[in-house]
Amino acid sequence: MSQKKVTVIGGGVIGLCCAYYLKKAGHEVRLIDRGDLRSGTSFGNAGYVSPSHIIPLASPGIVAKGLRWMLSSTSPFYIKPRLSLDLIRWCLTFWANSTHRTVEKNTPPLVELLLLSRELTSDIKNEVGNTFRMEEKGCFMMYKNAHTEKHEIELAEEAARFGIDTRIMNSREVQEMEPDVEVNVRGGVLYPIDAHLHPGDFMQTIHTWLEQQGVEFMLNTEVTGFEKANGHVTKVVTNKGAVEVEELLLASGSWLPVVTEQLGIHMLLQAGKGYSMTFDKTEKNLRYPAILVDHRVAMTPMGQDLRMGGTMEISGLNSPKLLKRARAIYDAAHLYYPDLNVEFPTEQKIWSGLRPLSPDGLPYIGRHSNYKNLIIAGGHAMLGISLAAATGKLVEQMASGKPTSINIEPFSVGRY
Ligand SMILES: Cc1cc2nc3c(=O)[nH]c(=O)nc-3n(C[C@H](O)[C@H](O)[C@H](O)COP(=O)(O)OP(=O)(O)OC[C@H]3O[C@@H](n4cnc5c(N)ncnc54)[C@H](O)[C@@H]3O)c2cc1C
Repeated sequence: MSQKKVTVIGGGVIGLCCAYYLKKAGHEVRLIDRGDLRSGTSFGNAGYVSPSHIIPLASPGIVAKGLRWMLSSTSPFYIKPRLSLDLIRWCLTFWANSTHRTVEKNTPPLVELLLLSRELTSDIKNEVGNTFRMEEKGCFMMYKNAHTEKHEIELAEEAARFGIDTRIMNSREVQEMEPDVEVNVRGGVLYPIDAHLHPGDFMQTIHTWLEQQGVEFMLNTEVTGFEKANGHVTKVVTNKGAVEVEELLLASGSWLPVVTEQLGIHMLLQAGKGYSMTFDKTEKNLRYPAILVDHRVAMTPMGQDLRMGGTMEISGLNSPKLLKRARAIYDAAHLYYPDLNVEFPTEQKIWSGLRPLSPDGLPYIGRHSNYKNLIIAGGHAMLGISLAAATGKLVEQMASGKPTSINIEPFSVGRY
């Protein structure tokens, strides 16, 4: 394998994990980010590494449910009406993909990617040390009503088809697993294969490791354009000058279409805003992370800290924070854990981030046919932490000219 100089644009979890595998394989790596890698989407999320999430976001029933939810300003889902051709195209493609047929086609490759990533995330922990509070004990799907229970049990059966183990529990059994807090649910499904970690600490650990290995970081540096010649991208232009590139990786999250547009590539992707709140040193904490399915809220114990997050707001790249949505997350958490002793935080302490949503729920991972030295990795939606390690590995294999560990055709970057 010949050693290359790879320039990575974007230092979220995807860019960092790609840099990690590229560096391990012996490539020279430079990473450019317009921020400082301390506050973006990959930082404040729920931290799940969850192979249990086997059904792609675009799935039957989601459109009808989304339309119902849109009638309430505190619901878990919202699309801000805008006159945008991209938004209309994205919505129509998402709708067209929300069928049984597409889900049957897309679930197996997603599961393959999830399982590969789950294994590789544990490997990263073993290689760099568990400085990011990773726990491998599973995650609950908890529900309050019979209809959701039926649906979650069907999903557990579907997961079993892919060899994913589940434990279905009634309310007493769930409570026994959480002896320190009161749990008010009808029941829950535990997916023991799932893990969770502190995503900010994970990012920091990989960043430090990469710096120690001599990766060049150009932070607080915005990519503003490119130079091209003979089917290659030759230079990346930034607000601090231009740099030459040999191999280029774009991993700019929800800003992927903004960056690719400068290369004449139109990517179908929308940003899905979510919120989280973190309560430090919670007196009585949860023992297990849990998704509160009826309200689409994610609860994650991170050592002594507790994070709760949720909502999906498709409102563009620059919309303001809506505090009532954060309040709805906080209120929902108390419906399931009535004696949680945490105060609703001040506005400054409410975090928001933008999930990069492809219109079928599968990420974009692959080379782009317009340029011989361009790889794209993005659109990981609500699975960026879960899929980062596998994405990094696959990108390294592509850059090195090796066969990939799994078939990457379903993630083709030119599919829309
Ligand atoms: C509330 C919430 C909870 C979530 N929970 C989970 C979870 O439990 N598990 C999970 O797997 N996923 C979860 N996610 C999803 C996950 O956070 C994302 O999928 C992931 O962070 C996307 O990573 P990324 O690297 O693609 O993008 P980002 O983290 O957004 O990184 C993109 C980077 O590109 C940089 N960039 C953009 N444009 C430019 C430019 N022109 N020049 C230079 N740099 C640029 C940005 O500064 C940014 O640092 C959650 C998301 C939210 C919002």
